[in-house]
Amino acid sequence: MRGAVLHGPRDVRFEERPVPTIVKPTDAIIRIAAACVCGSDLWPYRGISAVNEPTPMGHEYCGIVEEVGGAVRSVRPGQFVIGSFFASDNTCPICKDGYQSSCQHRELVGGAQAPLLRVPLADGTLVATPDVPPADLIPSLLTLSDVMGTGWFAADAANVKPGMTVAVVGDGAVGLLAVLSAKQKGARRILAMSRHSSRQKLAREFGATDIVSERGDEGVARIKDLTQGLGADAVLECVGTVESMTQAIQAARPGGYVSYVGVPHGVELKADELFFTHIHLHGGPAPVRRFLPELIDLVWSREINPGKVFDLTLPLDQVGEAFRAMDERRAIKALLRP
Ligand SMILES: [Zn+2]
Repeated sequence: MRGAVLHGPRDVRFEERPVPTIVKPTDAIIRIAAACVCGSDLWPYRGISAVNEPTPMGHEYCGIVEEVGGAVRSVRPGQFVIGSFFASDNTCPICKDGYQSSCQHRELVGGAQAPLLRVPLADGTLVATPDVPPADLIPSLLTLSDVMGTGWFAADAANVKPGMTVAVVGDGAVGLLAVLSAKQKGARRILAMSRHSSRQKLAREFGATDIVSERGDEGVARIKDLTQGLGADAVLECVGTVESMTQAIQAARPGGYVSYVGVPHGVELKADELFFTHIHLHGGPAPVRRFLPELIDLVWSREINPGKVFDLTLPLDQVGEAFRAMDERRAIKALLRP
């Protein structure tokens, strides 16, 4: 089979790869219905994180179970399933607390930009949909594998409750879906920080009530203006840079909540400054598995349509163009069809 492999900065190739097989009895092999490029794939693509060896790309996936190992009980061939980028047993004490992305036995899932994928710990990782979905639901179901689950975690970790004022830092796919998540959780006002008109438009569709196009100190001042000088009840940081993190912390009201779900790159926080903000800080790699049953229900009943973040769809063999379009910010998020 052929799949995407990153060889070095801006060098992603669609090339021959071994067909995945059952390695452990707890594995499943799934036939990918759709895959996509993640914002976090752009860090190694841009050379910001190192690529030490040719690396199969893609960690967002959904599709039909092709084969399961002898110990797998909860999914069977023919079912349509979704899983997280971290495989988890879903039984250890950390999983039981809802932090499956820190499972004691977690394994990273990679190589989903391909026709077939091996998923370890299938029983704890994969969740089946009620039936094989109609084609138009597949993009939204795919988002649950990472980007929507991460936006949802941003809202969950920032304690978003009905009536709150929420600010979202970042207008990438995660930020936009954090807006949708805050809306779904009942936020009264949602202040989306964005400078790009196409992204502002989607933020409004997803529930943003105000757009803040200023950044840095000006952005913080604007959030304060919009909140009677207090700051937002909850700020959802969806980027992972020192600028976005600083902006998020400063835009929160004293005693408020800041979540951070973008992988930090070069962020250092000053404890003394943090001390006087009185904020609750909670983030990390999203425990997507925790949210899958609830989010599958919301997509299945067509209450939410997170698949709208895909503004580019390409056949899998054009994965190079998918990376370029996202790198150059011509696309918010690219969906790939095997
Ligand atoms: Zn676990």
